[in-house]
Amino acid sequence: MLTRAQLQENNGTIDCDLLVEAHGVVTESMTSGSTGYPVKFRTTALTSTLWNAVNIREQLWSDREFDKSSASIRWHSDAIGLLPKGLEFENWGLPISAFHKTGRGYFLNSSTDICTQITWLQKLQPSYLMTHPSNLRALMAQLRSDGTTLHGVLEVRTVAESISDELRVDVAEQLNAKLVDVYSSEELGYMAIQCPVQNQYHVQSENLLLEVLREDSSSCALNKPGRIVVTSLLNYAAPLIRYEIGDYGELAGPCSYGRDLPVLKTINGRVRNMLRHPDVSARWPNFGFRKFMLVAPLRQFQIVQHTLDKIELKIVVDEKLTDGQEEAVREILRDNLGHPFAVNLSYHSQLPRSANGKFEDFISMLPNK
Ligand SMILES: [Zn+2]
Repeated sequence: MLTRAQLQENNGTIDCDLLVEAHGVVTESMTSGSTGYPVKFRTTALTSTLWNAVNIREQLWSDREFDKSSASIRWHSDAIGLLPKGLEFENWGLPISAFHKTGRGYFLNSSTDICTQITWLQKLQPSYLMTHPSNLRALMAQLRSDGTTLHGVLEVRTVAESISDELRVDVAEQLNAKLVDVYSSEELGYMAIQCPVQNQYHVQSENLLLEVLREDSSSCALNKPGRIVVTSLLNYAAPLIRYEIGDYGELAGPCSYGRDLPVLKTINGRVRNMLRHPDVSARWPNFGFRKFMLVAPLRQFQIVQHTLDKIELKIVVDEKLTDGQEEAVREILRDNLGHPFAVNLSYHSQLPRSANGKFEDFISMLPNK
C-alpha cells in the first residue's frame, strides 16, 4: 500500500526513469488531494490522452447538447477569470471542441462571492454549469433565500469534492436540472464517472484498478464501505501502485444499464466549507498551498475560520517554521483568501478526519447563513 504520506516522503524516488518514448513528454504537478497532504506527481502525454478519452466518454454518456452554452465556476491556480466579466470562449474547449462544434464557454474564478456568481449566471443563462459541490451548495442556499432561480440550466456537473443525495435533490427541485458528478483526482485523472441512468459511478478500469479495502487491507464485500485504493495502469512516469487516495467508498453489483465497468456506489471524500468575509459575503476558499510549499515543506494542513475576521492555519511539519516563514505563510493565506484576516498558526502531529470519514480542508465555525 502506498499512502499519501509515503508518496510525500518519497518524492522523486518512486518516479520511473525508464520511460517509453512513445508515452510522450513528462509533466510534473502538485496537489493537496483529499486529505490536505501536498504531493508532487508526474504524468506523461499518454496519460493526458487517456484522461481526454474519458472526458469525451463522460460527455457522451451524459448526452450533452454540444450546441448549447456551458459555464464553469472553478478554482484556478492563477488569478484568472475574475470579475467583472470572467472569461468568455468561442467553444467549450479541448478535448470536446476537437470533435464537436460547441456553443460558447464561460469561466468564472470560484473566489468570486456567491451573490455575484448568481448575477453572472443569471446574465449568461448557460445550459450547463460545472462547479465544486461546496460552491454549488452555497449557490442553492443563496437562491433559496433570495426566492429566485437560474433559468435554462439543463445539467450541473460537479468535480473535486464529495456530493450528497440532498444536493442532487436541491438541484432537481430548485433548477429542474440533473446533477452529474465526476470522481477524479489530479494525480490519477478520471477514476469513475456517473452512470448514464443511475446515481452511481462506473470505474474507468481501462486505465486503473480501483479496490475498496477493509482496515486490515483485505477486500471489502460488495456494498460494504472501505478505503479506496487505486493502481494506475498506464502512467509509467510515476507508477502509483495500490495508492491510498484518502477517500472511502463502496463497490456494488452490476449496473442494470448493462455497462460492464465496475460500479462504485458511493464516494466519501473531501468536503470544503465556504469562506465568509467580514461583509458576510460567501466564497469558495482558495489557499495557495503551492506557494506555502515554496516557503516551507508542509506535511499536512487544514484551515479553520473561527470568526468573520479570525483564521487558524493548522499545520503538520517536521521542523517548526522560523518567524520569517510563519509570516510568509500567513501573508500567502491572506492574499489567497482575499482579505487581511488575523491568521493564527498552530502546530499538530496529525490532522484527523471528521467523524463521517471526510477530511475537511477548510472548516467554518460560523453558523450557516
Ligand atoms: Zn450504469
